Amino acid sequence: MPKRPYHLETLALHAGQEADPATMARAVPVYRTTAYKFRNSKHGADLFALRELGNIYARLMNPTNDVLEKRLAALDGGAAALSLASGTAAVYFSITNILRSGDELVSAVNLYGGTYTMFDAILPQQDITVRFTPVNDFAAVERAINARTRALFIETIGNPVLDVADIAGYSALAAKYHLPLIVDATFTPPTLLRPIEYGADLVIHSLSKWIGGHGIGIGGIVVDAGKFDWSDPKFVLYNEPDRGYHGLRFAHDLGDLTPVAFALRLRTVGLRNQGPTLAPDAAWQFIQGVETLPLRMAVHSANALAVAEYLRKHPKVTWVRYPGLIGDPAYHLAQQYLKKGAGGMVVFGVVGGEEAAIKLVDNIELFSLLANVGDAKSLIIHSGSTTHSQLSEEAQAAGGLFPDLIRLSVGLEHIDDIIGALEDVLEKV
Ligand SMILES: *Cc1c(COP(=O)(O)O)cnc(C)c1O
Repeated sequence: MPKRPYHLETLALHAGQEADPATMARAVPVYRTTAYKFRNSKHGADLFALRELGNIYARLMNPTNDVLEKRLAALDGGAAALSLASGTAAVYFSITNILRSGDELVSAVNLYGGTYTMFDAILPQQDITVRFTPVNDFAAVERAINARTRALFIETIGNPVLDVADIAGYSALAAKYHLPLIVDATFTPPTLLRPIEYGADLVIHSLSKWIGGHGIGIGGIVVDAGKFDWSDPKFVLYNEPDRGYHGLRFAHDLGDLTPVAFALRLRTVGLRNQGPTLAPDAAWQFIQGVETLPLRMAVHSANALAVAEYLRKHPKVTWVRYPGLIGDPAYHLAQQYLKKGAGGMVVFGVVGGEEAAIKLVDNIELFSLLANVGDAKSLIIHSGSTTHSQLSEEAQAAGGLFPDLIRLSVGLEHIDDIIGALEDVLEKV
């Protein structure tokens, strides 16, 4: 631990790394190995029994991933983190690291499309029920909580209309009912917002988006705040002896590591026995992204705000949503949670509705028409026909998805070029 508590900009470059002892390499090396040598049989036995912590097999641990995990834990103010093969895996394995068949989750409804489908169609196949509630409707959340509820789930900025979750309001309810609050913070990397400061217990990021930041790979991470008490018997997975781990009870038998029981269980059950491992080469790419994250998020946010202000004044634009825009329905929450910038996403509609929206995305220069967000390059998509097309019309409406919605992920190009591309295409529609 440094004597002086470092700022996020410094942690983004240094946290979690000690120079490689063999080579003194300055950059983080990529450890391309499947397994690690034991000093002798006793050493191997101690590692397997968790009497000593150390590397065994790269499905569950790798020194490159370890740097990424420690760095994100430091940035988010958490106690531990675990990288996984995708943001989707991070969501799925977080939930199944707490809930089992018969349990229930209460989630905000305004979710990333893939997560909505997981909650609506996949988890029920495992007899896990998800109760959806409108974001920030705390009365609805309380009505949805029952004796089987085991967690609350929100996104910091939701899909598709970019509402901002009132994290402190959710964490107050989570505390009242003794439930962990899981926050998908993909749209607001930790240099913009640190949900743990507002009471989140677990923070999830898709690394594929702004943290990686260059549209170069798929990965996810879960940060464990290390403060949830899992010894409440309703969390059966933490209180009953684990058959897969010689009878270990995660809430009781971990000694000093008890605060990070969630992260340790996710590694020793999730990664070890279910296998959603992030490759070290991908972890290395994401570390490069983290190093410039503070700089990039500031520019993404400034560019997105300028785009939102430009669109609002344009006569062919019927509506625009950006949490950082004065007068936006989410503006007051953005003022509270997103003082350092409201991120890179802007959504809007145009005169001529869905047809005009499709014409616009098909004709714009500079922006790439594709299903991703958080690239350094500007991206565009018509959500209704693509990312959220799996949702019924009803679910689309409940999530606030208008058929004319155009989604922008505003990149790091010069702002005049970004606005120029919008100006040119708006002339045509
Ligand atoms: C992209 C995304 C995910 C899924 O992440 P992948 O890395 O694509 O699996 C989850 N939540 C949000 C908010 C996302 O934007």
